[in-house]
Amino acid sequence: MRYFDTHTHSQFSPDSLMNMESAAALCLKKGLAGLVFTDHMDIDTPTGVESFMFDPGAQQAEAERVSREYNVELLKGIELGLQPGTVEKSRERLSPFTFDTVILSVHSVDGMDPYHQPVFFEDKDHIRAYGRYLETILECITKYRDFDILGHYDYITRYAPYRERNLRYRDFPDLLDSILSYLATNGKALEINTNTYRAKYKGATAPDEGVFKRFRELKGEFVSIGSDAHSSDRICENFDLFGEFAKSCGFRYLTMFRGRKASLTAI
Ligand SMILES: [Zn+2]
Ligand SMILES: [Zn+2]
Repeated sequence: MRYFDTHTHSQFSPDSLMNMESAAALCLKKGLAGLVFTDHMDIDTPTGVESFMFDPGAQQAEAERVSREYNVELLKGIELGLQPGTVEKSRERLSPFTFDTVILSVHSVDGMDPYHQPVFFEDKDHIRAYGRYLETILECITKYRDFDILGHYDYITRYAPYRERNLRYRDFPDLLDSILSYLATNGKALEINTNTYRAKYKGATAPDEGVFKRFRELKGEFVSIGSDAHSSDRICENFDLFGEFAKSCGFRYLTMFRGRKASLTAI
């Protein structure tokens, strides 16, 4: 496969079982173009889990070493988990480092992490819960502009208790238009996070055609696919399937970022 996996977690992420060497070996075995290690950095998590932090200097040195040893392209990235109140601290924390790819993700809403704190959903229907998630994304991306990819725009669906869990464009046209036009205008990528659509999250959901077609209408050019792998067997999982999905929504290329510059691969 000629695609690049733009979203993976190595041993530098506290919740990952994947060491960089096993990832490199898997790339060689499957003939993959390479991948980006985008380890977690979430400052001031609501549950006080301060371990969602890593030393980019050490991570980058290890990525370089393994990349040389295995002769496969392993790029230096980060998944920055943001809350509106952590924007300044995050900026400071990242400023000494350079990355190939910065993914901006939202994992917490209103001081709650829906993964660890399902109480977030208790007094909300899906319109309110997903709406607050999208509002938080919008606030974060307009405050923190130094990123390349918006990670898993529908992360909130993974842990949601509703019978119909997909996050659909038709339910949030105004909010999604604000987010998508911001991404399109500023040359940012919208991610298809294949981890989100795995059956393990209470039955599979799917990326919404309405969201991606609207992104294209708004002149969005960059779509990335990331497995969000926390173990090497999941690297590039279902990329062909979701590549075809992107194509059916009007995108002819998938995007990855090397040295913060977009690089396109035909689907
Ligand atoms: Zn994430
Ligand atoms: Zn991730």
